[in-house]
Amino acid sequence: MSRILIIDDDEASRQFAESCLRDAGHDVLLATDGEAGISMAASTVPDVVITEELTPGIHGYGVVEAIRANASLSGTRVIVCSMKSYPTDVKQAENAGADRFLSKPYAPETLLQLVAELTGAALPSVVVDVSPSSLKTGAFTRDQMLFNMTATRSTAVGARLRVKFWGTRGSIATPGTGTVRYGGNTSCTEVRFGEHILVLDAGTGLRELGNALLEEFGTRPMRVHIFVGHTHWDHIQGFPFFTPAYVKGNTFMIYSMRGAGKPLERVFRGQMEADYFPVVLTDMQARLRFIELRKPVQIGPVTIRYHYLNHPGIAVGFRIEAGGKSVIYTSDHEPFHRTKPGAAGEKEEHKVTEFAKGADLWIREAQYNEEEYKAKRGWGHSTFDDALNSAAEAGVKQLSIFHHDPLHDDAFMDGVVADLRARARENRWTLEVDAAQEGQTIEL
Ligand SMILES: [Zn+2]
Ligand SMILES: [Zn+2]
Repeated sequence: MSRILIIDDDEASRQFAESCLRDAGHDVLLATDGEAGISMAASTVPDVVITEELTPGIHGYGVVEAIRANASLSGTRVIVCSMKSYPTDVKQAENAGADRFLSKPYAPETLLQLVAELTGAALPSVVVDVSPSSLKTGAFTRDQMLFNMTATRSTAVGARLRVKFWGTRGSIATPGTGTVRYGGNTSCTEVRFGEHILVLDAGTGLRELGNALLEEFGTRPMRVHIFVGHTHWDHIQGFPFFTPAYVKGNTFMIYSMRGAGKPLERVFRGQMEADYFPVVLTDMQARLRFIELRKPVQIGPVTIRYHYLNHPGIAVGFRIEAGGKSVIYTSDHEPFHRTKPGAAGEKEEHKVTEFAKGADLWIREAQYNEEEYKAKRGWGHSTFDDALNSAAEAGVKQLSIFHHDPLHDDAFMDGVVADLRARARENRWTLEVDAAQEGQTIEL
């Protein structure tokens, strides 16, 4: 019988795996987040580690990499399991060094068979080239993070949360006469509270925001916190054109999850390599700190929490709270129950709705109508109905859909807004509904 470590924050699925394995006579160990799982694996040297993909703190791919980087765990087999099962996720699990990918929910026999397969046969040892030091690149230690939190703590008297959309388009920039009002730049939203400046996503809209910041600050140094939900092109492509990053004395903190296969900093460095761009990341004269999220972030009086979304690869949404108000920002997300119909998918989606619960404003990705969605199932995006229904369920005051599809011009979007408002009225929902427009500001 084998020693098996289960790393999963979801109690029901952890208990399910635990009882399947215990009943079969295995010795089972449990951890509820990535960091605890990694240290437990190091101290107990299990035969098999079964890690959920979306574990709090360090995600499942990070767990796999840490295990592969630990020479004393060279005999440990790793299974990544997930409610998501986009081909990208399966591939990324394999790239990180996992032996198998297990799609949730699964039958007990499937799990037991997999464990038997991994432990029974004399498998050749897997050689994975992961340097242990690479795990630390770009990540703040706990002490540094705490220092950062306390050093910037201050109170903003009478400040209000202000939101401005600089990029509202999804997938690719779509300039032209048909997109003048709703906007052609890709995802970028500015959120301010007093002196604190946050930017959500670094799509092409970031270029104009950069110019506006330069005008506002003149020669004064600026400090800006950029939160990136995931690093697909349309969410990072504006960064090389963000002029303030080339100015010495400025500081930019860039927060996101560690990539599924590489550190956050390397993803940003990659898009500026010579094959793609004439200037490299290190030519930027500002101070850039890349912070891989493991827990909520506190910037003065502003708290930023994050939650995993259903999108190929690792993607998160943010909840920003300050001065008694809250903004939710969830880009690229296909409701879990759309790709995993049934109770398990609905439960996972309910966690997303809970994350948005009672917010003053939910900036939420919605890209298709129900007809269009039929051909786009599994692409990782929501429909307009998904957005409206979940906003109503979460009891938010205001919904602003964004990440508009490149095929949807202003006239089409006007129709979408009118339709969503009519549906909200029919259902007697009190929430305000809108579609984000480039240049629009919202004060909470
Ligand atoms: Zn996107
Ligand atoms: Zn995406």
